[in-house]
Amino acid sequence: MRSVCAAAPQLAGVVPYDPKYLPVTAVLSANENPHDVDDEIRRDIMREVKRLPLNRYPDPLANDLRDMIAEANGLDRDQVLVGNGGDELLFNLALAWGGPGRTFLNLPPTFSVYDANARLTNTSVVDVPRRADFSIDEEAVLARVAEGGIDYLVVTSPNNPTGQLASETFILRLLDATDALVMVDEAYFEFSRQTMRPYLAQHKNLVILRTFSKAFSLAGARMGYILGDAEVVREFVKVRQPYSVDAVSQAVARVVYANRAKFERGILAVIEERARLIEGLKRIPGVKPFPSDANYVLFRVENAPVIWEALYERGVLVRDFSRAAHLENCLRVTVGASEENDAFLRALRDAVMGKCDLKVPST
Ligand code: PMP
Repeated sequence: MRSVCAAAPQLAGVVPYDPKYLPVTAVLSANENPHDVDDEIRRDIMREVKRLPLNRYPDPLANDLRDMIAEANGLDRDQVLVGNGGDELLFNLALAWGGPGRTFLNLPPTFSVYDANARLTNTSVVDVPRRADFSIDEEAVLARVAEGGIDYLVVTSPNNPTGQLASETFILRLLDATDALVMVDEAYFEFSRQTMRPYLAQHKNLVILRTFSKAFSLAGARMGYILGDAEVVREFVKVRQPYSVDAVSQAVARVVYANRAKFERGILAVIEERARLIEGLKRIPGVKPFPSDANYVLFRVENAPVIWEALYERGVLVRDFSRAAHLENCLRVTVGASEENDAFLRALRDAVMGKCDLKVPST
């Protein structure tokens, strides 16, 4: 055949996710950890990986890792599930709680993957936009869930890309107001230290998402997990691909998790650098950074697409959100190593003060 029939109709108009990996000196666009896993931990990883039977399928549920995570969180194995990055578990959420005739309540601007997954699974999306300062419109959310018909929501805390935590009181009110599944996405919780984990026992409709990609420097290995009620976790197990979490990633994650205390210094360094970055941004005329509890800072600046280009030409890659709904003229910078943050601040100051040769980007 020299032709092919059309793909599924829900794909029409979908633009594939593009993290825009471009060759630069400071990659500050994907909220990764600037510090890679240290040599001592790498040696342990190599030892573990050497022992793996690569001809065999991995343990589909990664039970050794599940047990480690469960124990650290005071839970049982069946209250934990790991996935190929948090992204896989977000897709599983849409498969298990979404679908035709089902409804997802979204709080934009937030992580775009939630909305994309809902659309791919033919789930209806109801938006309750955040306020101008990006805080959740709590009363509007509570009023909407009270109307009924919502099957699941995601509350991102801290929110990506805007940076702020959701209020614990609000999440508790929400959990009481609806029996919809409420996922609290805590991908960045290690940088904010606030978690809903203590409330799992009282709320069957609460599920927490975490990742190894940020605080634990493992974006390359792909490992995420959920914590929740055993019955909720079982529904996620039903929709997952049996071998999505490969044996190598399981081994890497086990070693990293066993050594997680060693990542504390790096986390504290990011928190300190974040404060410095925000102060630096505030000192640049016309730049408005938003407060952040995560490892990135969203800021507003006039002519953001032009500024993005000028930064790129100076070897600094940040994320351009200026064309996204509610995020006009917003760029997001990941907290990097101090030299990277300095390079970013210098390049931004030059761009804003007109010291760069500014060109309007072609797209
Ligand atoms: N949730 C949020 C809010 C995120 O920003 C990310 C990463 N960009 C994820 C989940 C998923 O991360 P990963 O797939 O790397 O675990």
